[in-house]
Amino acid sequence: MSNTTTAIQKYIPYGRQEITEADLKAVAEALQSDYLTQGPRIQEFEEALAAKMGAKYAVVFNSATSALHGGCFALGLGEGDEVITTPNTFVATSNAALYVGATPVFADIEPDTGNIDAAKIEALITPKTKLIIPVHYAGHSVDLEAIRELADKYDLSVMEDACHAPGATYKDSKIGDCTYSDMVSLSFHPVKHIAAGEGGAILTNRADLYEKLLVFRTHGITKKNMQHENVGDWYFEMQVLGFNYRLTDMQAALGLSQLKRLEESVEKRRKIADYYFEAFAGNPYFDLPPERAYTQNSYHLFPIRLKNPLQKQKREIFAALRDNGIGVQTHYIPVYTHPYYQDLGYPMGLCPLCEDFYQREISIPMYPSLTEQDLAFVVERIFKTFRSFN
Ligand SMILES: *Cc1c(COP(=O)(O)O)cnc(C)c1O
Repeated sequence: MSNTTTAIQKYIPYGRQEITEADLKAVAEALQSDYLTQGPRIQEFEEALAAKMGAKYAVVFNSATSALHGGCFALGLGEGDEVITTPNTFVATSNAALYVGATPVFADIEPDTGNIDAAKIEALITPKTKLIIPVHYAGHSVDLEAIRELADKYDLSVMEDACHAPGATYKDSKIGDCTYSDMVSLSFHPVKHIAAGEGGAILTNRADLYEKLLVFRTHGITKKNMQHENVGDWYFEMQVLGFNYRLTDMQAALGLSQLKRLEESVEKRRKIADYYFEAFAGNPYFDLPPERAYTQNSYHLFPIRLKNPLQKQKREIFAALRDNGIGVQTHYIPVYTHPYYQDLGYPMGLCPLCEDFYQREISIPMYPSLTEQDLAFVVERIFKTFRSFN
């Protein structure tokens, strides 16, 4: 396809963590402290997260996957309940419903933002529906007000999967402040805004959910509201079936240090987006991500969409971009098309706009430490690749 040589060439991934001296120092201090896990850094991180995001409570988990599981548990979801979500997400979002025995129901997406289309949700609501999990795809907020209105009308809960969107806004609210939702999930995977190695969190303003999440994270064990007689200082009770979903203190230290730079890193991502918007304005090959007036995007990803008829050659274009040193990725394979979901009975063609989006979408490099030189390289290589397909 491309005629690059075998000499070692520059390769720029689609996403990457940024680790500073301050991060290294924070982790080293945690390692030398009395606690590697279950220590004071957990609460410190939680308090800082809640304060920064604007929510009352934060509960950290060892991943966003376990945090989302915790969210479904805290709401008391189980067999016979339905959860409406988007197919344009990482599998962890809808898997959370499956973990508690509930049934994911997929609503199709807006063809430009890639977000769940709020106008498609109402027709899917049944007496079994309990929860909506919207995902702020790529860092662009969903229309939260429209989703909240539906939730109020049908008495449903809302848990935002905000793994892409810390630092983004919706109208006058910050993503994470739970203005429109019962809970918000975050991920601290290295490609996300705040890296902790692995890790995640639930933000909430509801004390009842907060208490349940704390217990769920550590085996369902508690020393509060004991059901049997307290027979001594050693005594605790396991009252529900929880898991070991705890974050370590080393990870909390890294997350806390990274959290301090959130605004700065989101600012860098927005500058990179501006660079791309200018460089790719009016290009004949692909569409750029839109930005609705109600949101300020925090750009976890920069998703481009192939114009007709280039989507028919996506496989070749994708491979050529990687050959040319651009570590592109696709977000996402529509969840219900995976074999596991197919075996559950979800039909192909269920969400045609999501399947079309998948045909077209390519995520190009977007992370705070990209330099001007890197960006010039990315733009030059992308144009070079696309010219060879015309
Ligand atoms: C990354 C991600 C998750 C899962 O996060 P982990 O911390 O890796 O478990 C869930 N949902 C979305 C939208 C994500 O991007």
